[in-house]
Amino acid sequence: MIETVKSINPSNGKLLGEVYVTSEEELANKVKKSKEAFKKWRQVSINERVEIVSRAFESLEPMQRDLAKLMSMEMGKDARRSMGEVSGVIHSAAYFSQLVASALKPVNKGANTEIQYIPLGVAAVISPWNYPLAMAANLIIPSLVAGNTVLFKPSEVTPIVADEMVASLNDYLPEDILQIVHGSKSVGQMIVESEVNLIAFTGSQSAGKDIMMRAGSGLKRLIMELGGNDPMIVMYNADIESAASFAVASSFENSGQMCISTERIYVDEKVADKFETRVKELAAQYTVGAWDDANANIGPLVNDVQFNKVKLHISDAVAKGAKLLLGGITPKSPYINPTVITDIKPDMLLESEETFGPIVAISRYSNIDDAISRANDSDYGLGAVVFGENGALEVANQLEAGMVAINQGVGGAGDSPWVGAKQSGFGYRGSPEGHRQFAQVKVLTK
Ligand code: NAD
Repeated sequence: MIETVKSINPSNGKLLGEVYVTSEEELANKVKKSKEAFKKWRQVSINERVEIVSRAFESLEPMQRDLAKLMSMEMGKDARRSMGEVSGVIHSAAYFSQLVASALKPVNKGANTEIQYIPLGVAAVISPWNYPLAMAANLIIPSLVAGNTVLFKPSEVTPIVADEMVASLNDYLPEDILQIVHGSKSVGQMIVESEVNLIAFTGSQSAGKDIMMRAGSGLKRLIMELGGNDPMIVMYNADIESAASFAVASSFENSGQMCISTERIYVDEKVADKFETRVKELAAQYTVGAWDDANANIGPLVNDVQFNKVKLHISDAVAKGAKLLLGGITPKSPYINPTVITDIKPDMLLESEETFGPIVAISRYSNIDDAISRANDSDYGLGAVVFGENGALEVANQLEAGMVAINQGVGGAGDSPWVGAKQSGFGYRGSPEGHRQFAQVKVLTK
């Protein structure tokens, strides 16, 4: 029997479509084709590769509305956000490709030595569902520009929109340099263990650990962008209006299903009443609804698995003494009302795990050192923010995360590294150093 992955529209629970799961035999065939295609693709000059990849992504322009609609229907993101994601992928592809190419230019090290950045071979790109096209493009583009061929496995939760994108890209790309593979975890594991040379992965920490283990026997190159449990510290001298606005927007973005969403907030008790009151007012302005409900700004969670996890984290916090200031679970799975919870304690799942739901989770502190130590008391270390004036830089310098920001969201200027510390990442993308991780460094002494 041929196995399929079913894609369910989370806004209404109906079947959107299905795709065939790639069998072991088909995968072996795709790997073989990828290796063959690599022989030619690596000979194409890097400037030409930039041209070809840019043109392929730009060719998606006429179908951007359709892709955005499909994305919304497949994972619940509202129409405006989906359009922003698709448009971002299409319109940044050429610039992104050029940044990669310039990072991979050979470097002369004196009279007889040249440092080269040569292709690695076949790259496995394995991506999540929360930004189904952007996360994929972030890894596919540098892989291809660097001269690798790609086997791309999208999330089993969002296979259809990925399939559409790849089919259209392939009208412009040379044969077999980008092939799609469908299936869930077991297919991901099969790819990791196949004869690929690089695994470029975005997804959860637990999958990252499994990938690292399986990739170990072949010492395969790894780039892993993993989950986060990002803290925010609000100091006594913070601008409370902007701190509250950021807290709500960052906790609710993409219905809270964002790797760098604010997951836990530590606020100085001197300003906590004011902060919580304003957070509640702002959060109450959010409305839950389907992707095409023009009044809604929080969509459904992606599926029942995600819904049940968020539900568990809310009930666990309430059972252990947290206070529900606003919202909570709606009776209708997979919708979660905009939620504000205070009095969060370290033993609550909301504090210790990545929740991925539209929740503002707040704790108070009396001593900044305690806030810093709770912020750092996590295996995760993706992003962290601090809101405050005098002393904010000293706090930021003590936060253990790959990306830290003061009075704003993380990420830095364009083409900064997108990087996790601790168990939020291994390798990274973005920036010349990040682009170079898609290539093999070679020292040629002439
Ligand atoms: P996931 O890890 O469950 O799945 C991601 C992809 O990996 C899917 O394609 C899945 O089929 C595949 N997969 C799962 N287990 C695997 C395994 N053992 N071996 C090989 N492949 C495997 O993650 P998800 O639920 O799709 O996405 C949400 C997670 O992704 C969150 O933790 C989020 O924080 C993280 N994320 C991180 C970033 C970042 O930039 N750091 C960006 C987006 C999402």
